[in-house]
Amino acid sequence: MTKVYQLFINGKWVDALSGKTFESINPGTGKVNAIVAEAGVEDVDLAVKTARQAFEKGHWAEMDPSERGRLLYKAALKMREKSDFLAEVESLDNGLPIKETKFIAMPATIDVLEFYAGLTNKVHGETLASPGNRLNYTLREPLGVIGAIVPWNFPLMLTMWKLAPALAAGNTLVIKPAEQTPVSILELVKIFKEVGLPDGVINVVPGFGHTAGDALVSHPGIDKIAFTGSTRTGQLIMQSASKNLKPVTLELGGKSPNIIFDDASLEDAVNMSAFGIYFAQGQVCAAGSRIFVQDSIYDQFMDLFVNKAQSIRVGNPLETTTQMGPQVSDKQLQQIEKYVSIGLKEGAKLVTGGERFTEAGDGYYFTPTVFENVTNDMTIAREEIFGPVASIIRFKDEADALEKANDTVYGLASGVWTNDLKRAHRMARGIKAGTVWVNSYSYLDSVAPFGGTKQSGFGRELGTQAMDMYTQTKHVWVDLNEKALNWYGG
Ligand code: ADP
Repeated sequence: MTKVYQLFINGKWVDALSGKTFESINPGTGKVNAIVAEAGVEDVDLAVKTARQAFEKGHWAEMDPSERGRLLYKAALKMREKSDFLAEVESLDNGLPIKETKFIAMPATIDVLEFYAGLTNKVHGETLASPGNRLNYTLREPLGVIGAIVPWNFPLMLTMWKLAPALAAGNTLVIKPAEQTPVSILELVKIFKEVGLPDGVINVVPGFGHTAGDALVSHPGIDKIAFTGSTRTGQLIMQSASKNLKPVTLELGGKSPNIIFDDASLEDAVNMSAFGIYFAQGQVCAAGSRIFVQDSIYDQFMDLFVNKAQSIRVGNPLETTTQMGPQVSDKQLQQIEKYVSIGLKEGAKLVTGGERFTEAGDGYYFTPTVFENVTNDMTIAREEIFGPVASIIRFKDEADALEKANDTVYGLASGVWTNDLKRAHRMARGIKAGTVWVNSYSYLDSVAPFGGTKQSGFGRELGTQAMDMYTQTKHVWVDLNEKALNWYGG
């Protein structure tokens, strides 16, 4: 039977005020996965007011920070118990292979919650250097109500990147899941309710971007927007948030370079470069979609890489043997097809893939794709495809690699493959991106800040840095003079 989900506001499950619902599709079959209440402007308004009341009441923000941490740990423990269930829900929602949701996305998501649960009682202000007649200190205070807008590629993980530090710092939230993938987030909040999170601290308003999303961004009751998604939507959000000068953190698109030097361990470089672009069907903002290969090993690399791409098993995301599931929607499939034909038209050579994969049924499957003879000025080397399409680009030497790698409007992530220690560090300094992976790709760590430069956005998620994104500094001046200054005393 098709599952039905409501909005989650003030700790209760409620229909949308309009009574509207929308269908959430299982990308593996193209059939309806769930019917979900569709939040409109008025539901978002209610959710924001609820989150505001919950914040002002202080049950959460003023709770003993250690107690707040224990509650978050409890939620993490419950997530561990329900991890397989949540992984399956997520795979049905967005088409990620169960092997990836179970062994990569879920453990990483829970680790993030545990990391921030441990930080609740480590938010410090400072005592500042002052002369003896005054005391200057700072308080780190929560911002208030956070609007979190998340995409469909890793719904639980990217929600947790916002939810965990925001809650750890004492904020309350309204979450707007992507319209393609609301279900796993609605299952997640059940856990927070079960462990006793006060009502109104988390609210979830599934709906569409131009309605529910925009209502959240332009709502005067929201203190900050944390967004992960496309660069175009990031621009709209920044514009809309500027009306009431709301701070935003934006984690946007990328066209990340993954650079392979001839002294690298070739087998490792091939394996991880394939993971870098085909993991999650290439629907990863940090995907290593531009693979730069040094001339001297080009043919050798291509043989191995193309073989690897062709060996990837595409299929039903719930099969444990599946290595690549469906794209999230037909719209995404069409987008990828559009880029493949642009690539061909502009003179790139399609080595493998480039078409739909039809053997797995009616879902939105695509084949792992490799283009060679790509130059940096081609559209497929410049625009984010968000699919399993690798563009292979040759380079001569270090300077050439660096120039080509940085020739992009994006700056999210990058990879460097070399066994030359000095070169690795030179490249790490030279590449303009938020993350540089040396002899690896795609790894994330709760302790390490993640985010972009240039048009990949700004602000950082994860690490202690994210706590700064959900707190603000207040300065307190305490006068210690026996008598206050009488400036107008004559
Ligand atoms: P995609 O185009 O792949 O769906 P988006 O960046 O548009 O990626 O979507 C990411 C999230 O942003 C989703 O939750 C979506 O509903 C939301 N969104 C889209 N447009 C807007 C908007 N104008 N204002 C606020 N949120 C939006």
